[in-house]
Amino acid sequence: MTYPTIHKDPADLRVTPNLPAAGWPGFSWAVARSWLDGLPDGAGLNIAHEAVDRHAAGPRAGHVALRWLGRHGERLDLTYADLARRTSAFAHALERLGTAPGDSVFALSGRVPALYVAAIGTLKARRVFCPLFSAFGPEPVRQRMAIGEATVLVTTRTAYERKVAALRDGLPRLRHVLLTDVPADAAPPEGTLSFAALVAGEAQEYAIAPTDPETPALLHFTSGTTGTPKGAVHVHEAVVMHHASARFALDLHPEDVYWCTADPGWVTGTSYGIVAPLTHGVTSIVDEADFDAERWYATLREERVSVWYTAPTAIRRLMRLGGPAQGALAAPALRFVASVGEPLNPEAVVWGQDALGLPVHDNWWQTETGGIMIANTAAADVRPGSMGRPLPGVEAAVLRRGPDGVLLADGRAEVLGPGVGGELALRPGWPSMFRGYLHAEERYRRCFAGGWYLTGDLASRDEDGYFWFLGRADDVIKSSGHLIGPFEVESTLMEHPAVAEAGVIGKPDPVACEIVKAFVVARPDAAGDGGLTRELLGFGRARLGAAVAPREIEIVTELPHTRSGKIMRRLLRARELGLPVGDLSTLEGGEIP
Ligand code: AMP
Repeated sequence: MTYPTIHKDPADLRVTPNLPAAGWPGFSWAVARSWLDGLPDGAGLNIAHEAVDRHAAGPRAGHVALRWLGRHGERLDLTYADLARRTSAFAHALERLGTAPGDSVFALSGRVPALYVAAIGTLKARRVFCPLFSAFGPEPVRQRMAIGEATVLVTTRTAYERKVAALRDGLPRLRHVLLTDVPADAAPPEGTLSFAALVAGEAQEYAIAPTDPETPALLHFTSGTTGTPKGAVHVHEAVVMHHASARFALDLHPEDVYWCTADPGWVTGTSYGIVAPLTHGVTSIVDEADFDAERWYATLREERVSVWYTAPTAIRRLMRLGGPAQGALAAPALRFVASVGEPLNPEAVVWGQDALGLPVHDNWWQTETGGIMIANTAAADVRPGSMGRPLPGVEAAVLRRGPDGVLLADGRAEVLGPGVGGELALRPGWPSMFRGYLHAEERYRRCFAGGWYLTGDLASRDEDGYFWFLGRADDVIKSSGHLIGPFEVESTLMEHPAVAEAGVIGKPDPVACEIVKAFVVARPDAAGDGGLTRELLGFGRARLGAAVAPREIEIVTELPHTRSGKIMRRLLRARELGLPVGDLSTLEGGEIP
């Protein structure tokens, strides 16, 4: 079913949108850079200064920067001045611990204030901040900390004991583990320090050293079809995009109360859950608790959230529960709702209108782009099912994918016209573009061709420049908004003594977009089917954590292979969906090398 365009009537909008419906003629990245201050005396650009220190030194010092809602009803407001003091103390502590600029500070923590302090304090000290999702199991944590050469880990006692302590010998670069839930006067477990004790005596002012905008700032891990996770490196210059895109795509205004539901363990939760709203000087809601429909509606209502950035899976879960009860959103301050991370079905856009009184504005970006690229914006008409149009300064195109990649024989990419599906590509040059995959130069180079950055997504464009998502060009899995590499799951399952071979796919799911499903060939001497399935589900969960582990396992007698012996995931997926298998040559992209 096609859904009619939702027209915006300027009279219905409660504020004047930052980005006019007609776009921003004359926009350049230099214009966006001029919206930021830069370090005093022309000493460069540092995310922490733009996010916190410049507000703490001005009229917004007393404005609430973060309003933390604890899982059990606790509340904590941190003003910009508070945040400046706490992050300064953490920056000093990093120096006192003997770390050097460029060292990486990892976080494995739920949404607690110390996580936000650690992120900004790390950037102040020009160390590199790398968040990990707290629902990762020991294996994803170990791999990422090893690739990222973690020097410091900020985590909780339980996460440390369950996921890190046993791995520590394999992480020789890890020098300090800081526990956020050990009080300053309590004894931390051996080999760790109390975060509170560490920062307690530190000075609360910190002068950020000159920072070249190309200095690495953030490391975000993402997954490909094959191989180990990829560490995408982002630099301080990215803040130009964080700020500009939040202005355009999230329509942030100074008095907004903003709530990003993404976890900082993923790129959205850092770029738009920590950095971007702070650069705008707004109040951000940080909810420690996980999804709970009643709690969420109450938060929107009682905290007077005006701009809400969430995920399609969350919207679909709310839809399933039937929307807010009558009056649950009475007198809402809510004026703009956006979502990202996976396809937003048109029904969800329209549901927003009925249940929340506002359409949900889909937008698109990925770890590598570092910021929102394509969006449905506040002033523009919404075409339900479309990701929207490229933001000012972003050039997007759909390229033909030839049988041997996207390039034509003469080395130039062919840009396709309206209505034709192909690979979504972006013209390099926006400020938050990743600067490389850590220790994987060749993988980085393969992302570019013919003067374009290739996103790995398939899309089409219509006559009016709206982009429509068609799917992934590779086999990565999107589950509840989280990108999962099938190879990582397969490799872990193969470590179980009963597993001879494993092939992992994303199985479509009406709420989570996809769930991880594994097909496993058991070793001849393995126990019977029912017991083994249960055993492997538990094994996957213990090693990989709930966010990555397979939710379904099917024991099969063999897996489909190409002539060269690679497993064909797409064939597994086609069979799972009951689709015709078609020409096997098109399955090459989904093979396991
Ligand atoms: P990540 O790097 O984990 O943020 O995942 C990025 C990927 O999520 C993209 O390459 C897309 O495949 C998918 N994605 C993000 N936003 C959207 C969207 N609005 N519609 C469809 N897919 C999306």
